[in-house]
Amino acid sequence: MTIRFFNTYSREIEEFRPLDPAGRKVKMYTCGPTVYSHAHIGNFRAYVFEDLLQRHLEARGYTVERVMNLTDVDDKTIRGSRSAHLPLREFTAQFKEAFFQDVETLRIKPADAYPAATEDRFVRAMIAMIEKLISLGLAYQAEDKSVYYRINRFPNYGHLAHFDLSELRPTGRVKSDEYDKEHVGDFALWKAWNAEDGEVWWESPWGRGRPGWHIECSAMATTLLGEEIDIHCGGVDNIFPHHEAEIAQSEGCSGKTFVRYWMHCAHLLVDGQKMSKSLGNFYTLRDLLSKGYSGREVRYALIRVHYRAPLNFTWEGMEEARQALGRIDDWLLRLQQAAPNDNATEKIEDDKFFVALDEDLNISAALGHLFEQIRESNRELDTGMSPGRARAWLGWWERINQVLAFEAEEEKPPAEITALAEQRVQARLARNWQKSDELRDAIQSRGWEVRDTKEGQMLTRRPAPNERAGIPA
Ligand code: AMP
Ligand code: ZN
Repeated sequence: MTIRFFNTYSREIEEFRPLDPAGRKVKMYTCGPTVYSHAHIGNFRAYVFEDLLQRHLEARGYTVERVMNLTDVDDKTIRGSRSAHLPLREFTAQFKEAFFQDVETLRIKPADAYPAATEDRFVRAMIAMIEKLISLGLAYQAEDKSVYYRINRFPNYGHLAHFDLSELRPTGRVKSDEYDKEHVGDFALWKAWNAEDGEVWWESPWGRGRPGWHIECSAMATTLLGEEIDIHCGGVDNIFPHHEAEIAQSEGCSGKTFVRYWMHCAHLLVDGQKMSKSLGNFYTLRDLLSKGYSGREVRYALIRVHYRAPLNFTWEGMEEARQALGRIDDWLLRLQQAAPNDNATEKIEDDKFFVALDEDLNISAALGHLFEQIRESNRELDTGMSPGRARAWLGWWERINQVLAFEAEEEKPPAEITALAEQRVQARLARNWQKSDELRDAIQSRGWEVRDTKEGQMLTRRPAPNERAGIPA
């Protein structure tokens, strides 16, 4: 087994070999949300891709230690807390909470740690790193009292993004009054306090202020995972300046290679443009839940396209996700009915799903193979499948579902629903189609869906629009 990933740093597909001498442990850092509002599903495309990556590595026997940071202090969080008239901590707490709920709904495995930038020990680590960079001549305090990274002193600056330094322009994340900087591309490590920051400041050797966004990730990654890590992920918009800056800071301090594999996912698009807060073309997970879609349907829609290919968000895509999961559900039901007990007498020796993912997470090939096998085994079921073989297919699926996390949660219909469903069976036996349809509607209005399959009537939980989002009807 050889796993290969595209490394943004080299722009090449490389064989994956972790730092761990035993070759089992993998340290992974993933840039998390800025908690000033609900994350949109573009953000979640990045997090779902990272989840697929982690789950696949685990399926291949690695132990993954993953850290995801929460950016809870920056211009946007400060602005948000001021306009909400709430202390910063209180303002961001609600969005942290919402983020964790969304992570669960999308079946993303929780990270081992969610460090927040404002925690004391991380602020201390940030200050220590900045002091070190200054002592090495890699940073300086400018007249505006802020501290900047001196990019001309870091020869590798621009390597990740394949950028020529002379092309650099200031970016939105950097304060605009930067006439004090030596180079337009020098980025802030420490931002001196100003009136707009209100109550938000920390003491530092350079006076009151707050950390810049990039140093937050370098300090949190190094504190929790060490100076060298295996994989660092984010969306492509993170490559520059954020990840470029992380390399300059971390490697500037340690002199070691900070990250072995940089992996970035392409954007989720809407009508050809990046889904983003600033363009206003975004949907939150909650928006989709309130339209009646489930977490796993959104998960499917976000995962199904290769992570390095742009993915267009469409309602047809959401319907396709629903249908694809419906096919899996029907197939599993048939297998379960054909395998009434737990005795596994056979094993399906088929690794192609995982082999496809070994090759830079080729999810399209992996899903293609899954549906091919579903078709094949459905044909076998048509002609009669032995319980042992059906059980073996279920075992095969279990391994795959560890990676995909697509399986429907079992939810027993309440007595009222089973009674309606039983009446519907009777109506159909009496060929009373009108009554059968009325009963289907009645069941649907109570949040359940009836499907007629070869094995009989099947009930799935299908919350009515608004019900899932907790919006009262
Ligand atoms: P932010 O909260 O803007 O720092 O973004 C959090 C994560 O979501 C980062 O890894 C971004 O690269 C990623 N991201 C933001 N917008 C999109 C999008 N439209 N498609 C995919 N990833 C995105
Ligand atoms: Zn980051």
